[in-house]
Amino acid sequence: MSEQFIPLEADPEAYQAMHRILDEPAADAMLSRRELEVRGHAREIVAHKVAPASAKADAIHEFAAGSVQALAEANLMGLVFPKDLGGTGDSNVAYAAAMEEITAGCAATSLIFMTQMHAAYPILLAGSKELAEKHIPPLLNGSNWGSLAITEPDAGSDVASLRTTATKVEGGYRISGSKTFITTGDRCDTIICFASVDRTKGRQGITAFVVDGNAQGVTRGQPFHKMGMHASSTAEVFFDSVFVPDDHLLGEPGGGWSVVMSSVVKSRISAAAQGVGLARAAYARTLHALKHRYGTRIPDELTFALATLRGRILQGRLLLLAVARQVDEDPKIAPGQIGIMKQSCTDLGWEVSVECTRILGAFGDFKELGVERCLRDSKVTQIYDGTNEVQRLLIGRETNRAMEAMS
Ligand SMILES: Cc1cc2nc3c(=O)[nH]c(=O)nc-3n(C[C@H](O)[C@H](O)[C@H](O)COP(=O)(O)OP(=O)(O)OC[C@H]3O[C@@H](n4cnc5c(N)ncnc54)[C@H](O)[C@@H]3O)c2cc1C
Repeated sequence: MSEQFIPLEADPEAYQAMHRILDEPAADAMLSRRELEVRGHAREIVAHKVAPASAKADAIHEFAAGSVQALAEANLMGLVFPKDLGGTGDSNVAYAAAMEEITAGCAATSLIFMTQMHAAYPILLAGSKELAEKHIPPLLNGSNWGSLAITEPDAGSDVASLRTTATKVEGGYRISGSKTFITTGDRCDTIICFASVDRTKGRQGITAFVVDGNAQGVTRGQPFHKMGMHASSTAEVFFDSVFVPDDHLLGEPGGGWSVVMSSVVKSRISAAAQGVGLARAAYARTLHALKHRYGTRIPDELTFALATLRGRILQGRLLLLAVARQVDEDPKIAPGQIGIMKQSCTDLGWEVSVECTRILGAFGDFKELGVERCLRDSKVTQIYDGTNEVQRLLIGRETNRAMEAMS
């Protein structure tokens, strides 16, 4: 490239104009006036306050606290929460559309953003009014950091085999064990911790607790060095006989599995929206780079390749919005439906990033274009919130059950 290249994210107006190209009428038709308003508001904030900071934060591995704060101040962090807890009472569709916007500007910011929601949601779902009033508003206004702690060194996909224990004592429980790969785990103020009250019972022993990150016996680890999502943190969290009062249980003792299952519906919408947002980021950054290189005379073979990707991004967005709408109508949606969305949309983010890297040739390898960042950031969306292999397993099980019902 001859002239100096200015990244798309450096110019908020150019950024918004480029992303408007991908506002497909077929997908817009699925959004209500309010949902379109939320998306527009999210894009504006992202263009001015999130995207411009994203490349530097990635390069220096700086936790995107400022970007998350900007989203909280813009009233975007509590989209699916009631107004009396600091939310805006919006739909899952509005949330999905906003998540796509945030991810397109900075995927790592979107990871912290969604984790705030994932920590607050189980409290809304299964906590007392007092717990909700104490813990949810600070998570939604960004004054507290939240983590959802499920994964352990020996319990990843197989959540039911978790080893962290909660032993009944007078007035509460004592939690001991360790969690790993926990987003925002290095600084979490509020931890939703899943532990077993009776390991002989498998899933029926799993119980959800709200744990204060500053409680005696909690140790937060140092952030891991990761391939992508550099502006977020991922760390171990250790629990050494941590006392948690009875009123900090979410649901009944042994009722944690249903909290996990209800929570993953939300978290898989988040991951799917990240997939579509990353695909869009890769596409928009590629188009911007090609415009810089060729002006309006982009070679046909590249235009054709981009046309294919544009169709695929639209398909992904339609699937994301359709499943989010279904969740709005009935949160007890079949896991296979959620799996189809999560797996397809996160594969889309990865595959579009790979193809955009190819389209750009050697420039695809250049950090300043931001497309290699989409590649690095998209990989993990296929892994967390239930790996895509596990999603295929769930989809396959539903297919098999339907086949059995036929015979
Ligand atoms: C950046 C990042 C952030 C994360 N944030 C959080 C967080 O905030 N909270 C949290 O609790 N966890 C978090 N995780 C953990 C994540 O959810 C787990 O990594 C994921 O569930 C997979 O578990 P595992 O890594 O132990 O892999 P494993 O379960 O050991 O799987 C290894 C491989 O085997 C495959 N596999 C496993 N079981 C099956 C099966 N039954 N059928 C077919 N294939 C299978 C998997 O798909 C994978 O390819 C995060 C991880 C990362 C990398």
